[in-house]
Amino acid sequence: MLGEIFQNDYRILWATSGEKALQIARSKIPDLILLDIMMPSMDGYKVCEKLRKDDFTQSIPVIFVTALEQTQYEMTGLESGAVDYLTKPINPGIAKLRVRNHLQLKQARDQLERLADTDGLTDIPNRRYFDQRMIQEWYRALRTQSFLSLLIADIDFFKAFNDSYGHLVGDKCLKRLTKTLSENLVRATDMVARYGGEEFVCLLPNTDHKGLYLIGEKLRHAVSALKIPHRNSKVADHVTLSLGGATMVPDSGRNPEELLKIADQNLYKAKKEGRNRLIQS
Ligand code: GH3
Ligand code: MG
Ligand code: MG
Repeated sequence: MLGEIFQNDYRILWATSGEKALQIARSKIPDLILLDIMMPSMDGYKVCEKLRKDDFTQSIPVIFVTALEQTQYEMTGLESGAVDYLTKPINPGIAKLRVRNHLQLKQARDQLERLADTDGLTDIPNRRYFDQRMIQEWYRALRTQSFLSLLIADIDFFKAFNDSYGHLVGDKCLKRLTKTLSENLVRATDMVARYGGEEFVCLLPNTDHKGLYLIGEKLRHAVSALKIPHRNSKVADHVTLSLGGATMVPDSGRNPEELLKIADQNLYKAKKEGRNRLIQS
């Protein structure tokens, strides 16, 4: 019956058990979930709690669908993280409006979240987003005991660039450079973020020393190949990057800040040893 109500307006996925629902939610990330409370083996409350605890599914709104009208069940449902309630027998008009309202709210929330995570000038993730991802990737790599690599890239003599060409040209340069960095990271799990003014960070899961070297050098060459004129650089006649890299298999005695610190120290060395180079450890 719910299918009939919604099938013309939305794309619908079905699950006939709690386990299946969790599996679909995790792989398809729907915009809204209508969840029955009474289900065999795992009830709706449990499913809702599990959805809330999973990073991937926690922001999917859940509306409970149930014949249990008593307020105590409604309390339990809302407490387990549902945003709303539909009681059987379903009134199609009300169901449609409630679903539409919650989808609109979800859309507005998603948009705000995207804005809060994105750098206004370059349109790539900002430091806030990077900090969150860094922690997630650190613990993922800790669990799977896999390599996690990090690059910090800093434009060489960028103050002098602004001084000679003006801030607007400086901004344009940052945008072009960002585009090049993004285009040169091909794995879906790799990410680049704007870390500060003319500094960028690349987070590279499942990447060892050799992989980091290849990517770092690829990025450095790609930026250099743009040949953005820089008459006041002391290392080239065009814009160049210095990069510091770090690679680790996380262990529980260490923390994500260490990876950042090592990459930062290597960046400092790259600057000191002449710029336009990558130093990693
Ligand atoms: P170094 O090679 O040692 O990194 O020298 P640098 O001049 O790049 O480093 P410094 O930290 O002295 O200066 C960074 C400059 O980056 C300062 C500022 O003019 C410029 N900058 C930072 N953010 C922006 C921005 O959003 N737009 C523009 N146009 N310039 C920016
Ligand atoms: Mg800097
Ligand atoms: Mg700089």
